[in-house]
Parts: sequence; C-alpha cells; structure tokens
Amino acid sequence: AHKDESQTGLKKQTRLGLEARKEENLADWYSQVLTKAELIEYYDVSGCYILRPWSYAIWEAIKNFMDPEIKKLGVQNCYFPLFVSRAMLEKEKTHIADFSPEVAWVTKSGDTDLSEPIAVRPTSETVMYPAYAKWVQSYRDLPIKLNQWNNVVRWEFKHPQPFLRTREFLWQEGHTAHAAFKEAEEEVYVILDLYARIYTDLLAIPVIKGRKTEKEKFAGGDFTTTVEAYVGASGRAIQGATSHHLGQNFSRMFEIMYEDPETQEKKYVYQNSWGITTRTIGVMIMIHADNQGLVLPPRVACFQVVIVPCGITASMKDIDRKALIGSCEELEATLKAAGIRVKGDYRDNYSPGWKFNHWELKGVPVRIEVGPKDIKEKQVVAVRRDTGEKLTLQRETAESDILQLLETIHHNMLDKATKELESHTVECRDWSDFCAQLEKRNIILAPFCGSIPCEDYIKQESAREESEPGAPSMGAKSLCTPFVQTTAIQSTDKCINPTCSNKPQSYTLFGRSY
Ligand code: AMP
Repeated sequence: AHKDESQTGLKKQTRLGLEARKEENLADWYSQVLTKAELIEYYDVSGCYILRPWSYAIWEAIKNFMDPEIKKLGVQNCYFPLFVSRAMLEKEKTHIADFSPEVAWVTKSGDTDLSEPIAVRPTSETVMYPAYAKWVQSYRDLPIKLNQWNNVVRWEFKHPQPFLRTREFLWQEGHTAHAAFKEAEEEVYVILDLYARIYTDLLAIPVIKGRKTEKEKFAGGDFTTTVEAYVGASGRAIQGATSHHLGQNFSRMFEIMYEDPETQEKKYVYQNSWGITTRTIGVMIMIHADNQGLVLPPRVACFQVVIVPCGITASMKDIDRKALIGSCEELEATLKAAGIRVKGDYRDNYSPGWKFNHWELKGVPVRIEVGPKDIKEKQVVAVRRDTGEKLTLQRETAESDILQLLETIHHNMLDKATKELESHTVECRDWSDFCAQLEKRNIILAPFCGSIPCEDYIKQESAREESEPGAPSMGAKSLCTPFVQTTAIQSTDKCINPTCSNKPQSYTLFGRSY
C-alpha cells in the first residue's frame, strides 16, 4: 500500500511539473512556465494575453520602485486618451513612417463607418504634444514633466511572445519638455539609470547601457539610449527599455514654443520620451527560470517565503496538529512584521510534497518547512529556490536569517546572470569570425562606422539560410554602442563590414535579438 501511494504521488508531481526542457525546446518550455506558474492565461486575440495576479505583482513591484523615483525628479502622473486622430498621428513624418504598419485603426461603430478613422496609440507623442503646445507660452511654463502608466497597441507582425513582444502591452511613458538642451540631455541618462536599476536591483539581471545606432534609434528622435539584456538560452539579446532625446523635431511639428525672456525670440522646446514595459517580466523568466519552473528574484516576488507545515499524519492527535499549524502561523506573523512577503500554505487537501512542487513551479524564493521535530528543536528548515540548498535555521533568529537569505539569493541570481552575459560577450575585428561567434550564441563587440548601409549589410550577411523572423538564424542587429568602451578604437581598426572603408567610430555591440 505504501508503494502505491508513493507512485501516485510521483505521477501527480510529473503532471504538475514542466515537460519541456529549457535547453531542448525553449519555446515550449517558456509557454509551460507561463501557464503552469500561473503567470498568464492565453487569449483568443493573437498577441494579447491575460496577466494573472502572479505576473501582475511583478509589474506592481516595478511600478512601486519607478513611480516614487520619477516623482523625486518632479514628474507627475496623468492620463491622455487611448485614441489619436489621423491628422495628429501623421504630423511627424519619420515617426509615423516607422509606426504606421503597426497602427491599429477603429473604422466602425456598430455597422456604421466612422467619418474619419481613428488610431489606437502605439505611443503617445502625437496624443500629448498638441496639448503641450497649448500649455507652453512662456519659459515659466517649463519644464513639463508628465508620465502615464497605461497600455499601448502595436499590431506587430513579428512572432508574438507573451511579455516579450505583445500587441497590447503595459508600460509607463514619460514625456518631458525643457527650455535648455542640457537639462533635457541630463534627464535622458538619469532615466536610463533608473531602468538599469529596475533590471539589476529588482530583477537581478545585468544590462548594458548604451546608445542606439542611427538605424535603430527611435523614429523622429535625435538619439536613443537603451539598456540591453542577454538571454543565454537563445543566445539573443533584448532591448530592455529606452530613453529618447527627441530634440526639437516634435516641438517644430507641434509648435511647442516659448518666448525667450532675454531676446523675446520664439524658441522651440527640447523634448524627451522614455518607457519601460511588461517585457521586463519576459526577460526575467527567460533568464532565471529553470526546468523546475519559475525562479523569482526576491525583490519582485509576490511571496518571498512560503511556509509548509510538514509531518501531519492521520494518526496525529488534533491538539498536536493544531500546535503545528499554530507554530507556523506564529512564524508567519513574525516574518510579516519584519516586512517579508510570506504565505502560509495550510491547505489540508494537498500533501507537503505537492505543495513543494507547486511553489517551486511558481518560483517562490524560499520555502520554509516546519515539522514536529523542528518545533522541538526550536528550528526551521529553509530551502532556496535558486540553488535547491537546504538550511537549518534557529527559530529565534529566523526573521533576520531569512532577510539575509533573500539578499543572498538576489545577489547569487545577479552573479549567475552576469557570468552568463560576460562569458558570451566577445570582441571581434574580423568579419570571418563574426558569424562564427554568432553561432556560438555570443553577442559581439565590433569596430563599426555607424552607417545605416553597413548595418544593413551586417544584418543581411550574418543571416543563415531559412532565416525567418524569430528564428535563431536571423541576422545580427546592432544592440547599442556601450557607454563604457572596454577597448579603445586603434588606428589599425577597420569597420566590421569588410566592404566598408570608413573609419570605425567605436565598438558597437551586435547580436541576434528579440
Ligand atoms: P519604444 O517606444 O519603441 O522605444 O519602446 C519602448 C520599449 O518598449 C522598448 O525599449 C522595448 O523594451 C519595449 N517594447 C517594444 N515593443 C514591445 C512589444 N511589442 N511588447 C512589449 N514590449 C515592447
């Protein structure tokens, strides 16, 4: 009878767990993590997904960090409409040229055609700036620093993937207007640093900060700065968030002007826009989750600790069972009081083994097991999700030990991802070596002249046969020119494009990307 029980137990565990392996079938593995960890539910409109509380909590953690940080900079939250008229959307020509294939239009109400179709915002420059033009008269009206936490729609034709590339996504978009270029420029980097901190300090993901090339910069802007992350499992990079300096391009188009107090001249404002999206969650899953399921970085985990009472038997006296649960609840209260997000799992219709699997699959950073023996010994058993390591902690010091442990887990996850990034970043001066390095799932620092035709060449010539969007055979894109240049350009360096005779400007990072 005992054998039978353990066999059914095992069966149950297999069904609960992941069937696909990360290193064998990344796409299936990703999809199973998403559903089995209860992060998303699939939906019948392609490219749109239901964000369940388990993933929305991560977005809330990001918001809870970002929102006070931007408020410290004097940014205020507001809300602009979802819809934009064709006239406004098309005001800035380069901007709309880039976005137009992805714009969703409302053309009907019921059965009646609208007299003028209206667009759903793909981003809100053209929604917000007509109002900015009204609000700015004098230099005293500047700077304007507004942000909205909202959704946007980009009807992407690239293969959609939950979080990473969706047709509707959540983000914050900040839009500021300044009298002085210098002030605007400074802000671009301050915001980029906040984005980098979201990745490193919250999600335990290293990023490379840099500037986008002419080809990859935001359409209609002057320059784009970015944080780029690396997904080891696919050997592909991903744009983590972007902070743009728009220069005066939009202010010219939308006539956002003020009178210079000294010269009485009309001047155009300098503008920035910046955004980070729910893509962050996808990057976190891709980088940290494993074959047992999700692995949540402690600082964004909905529950950082789960307590599972163990050793309850059918023959156990009611009073002993109550004492065990009571002891768990007490521990739960202590941890809660210490600011730890903790959940006691006291369900009596699941075995401890089932609960272990369940919470492992959902990626809770620490599991605490409390059994009758632990109570007697005044101890608890803690199990780390990131390493599987089992620790015995004194009950008396459990709260400070757990706080410490959560920090250790964060740093361990960040270290691991940093090693993965560093071991897959290579320098390359030779075109013949470039493609070989891509095949090894590396991202590549190469001397680059910065021109668009060169970048087109690189992308085209580094693509493998049967290249299709989303496949690892795609050509390499420039990711960014890192602000920190580890190697200086030498006089003997040539642009990585073998057909180019321009002088390289800097080492630019290339790679296959999402
Ligand atoms: P952009 O306004 O184009 O600079 O986009 C801002 C950020 O949104 C980018 O840096 C990406 O990280 C992210 N992003 C772009 N497209 C998508 C998408 N389809 N789904 C999720 N995130 C996206």
